[in-house]
Amino acid sequence: MKKKLLISSCLIGENVKYNGKNNLIDLTQLREKYELIPFCPEVAGGLPTPRPPSEIISTTPLKLINCQGEDVTDNFIKGAKKTVDLVKKEGIKKALLKANSPSCSSTFVYDGTFSGKLIKGKGVTTLFLEEIGVEVFDENSKFWL
Ligand code: SF4
Repeated sequence: MKKKLLISSCLIGENVKYNGKNNLIDLTQLREKYELIPFCPEVAGGLPTPRPPSEIISTTPLKLINCQGEDVTDNFIKGAKKTVDLVKKEGIKKALLKANSPSCSSTFVYDGTFSGKLIKGKGVTTLFLEEIGVEVFDENSKFWL
């Protein structure tokens, strides 16, 4: 039986990205090894698609705003909690989540100034998942090859 892998919905081609598009990657080898379980924390957190992009402006306390200045922290936390619920229910231990996303990234995030500058950091959902022992990778790691 294949192991389950949580994957960002946008990476399997679902149009859930902030701009209504997706980030489809080649899934051929991933599908050979894993049963893919897609999920989008931002949609799960109640945000619409398309939506204004958001960035993390503070980690302690956690605060995210969108580019229109609206506080979306609660949406991101709600989405992260729903992701945790899903991985617990499905017994998922590993996740492939989109790089550079304020929800999904495990490496870099935008710096909170909406100027396109990346800094080291993790998305909200990744932080929640790592807290319960889920290994999180992004699509650049190619861990499945
Ligand atoms: Fe993709 Fe994650 Fe953004 Fe949803 S929250 S669109 S799954 S990167």
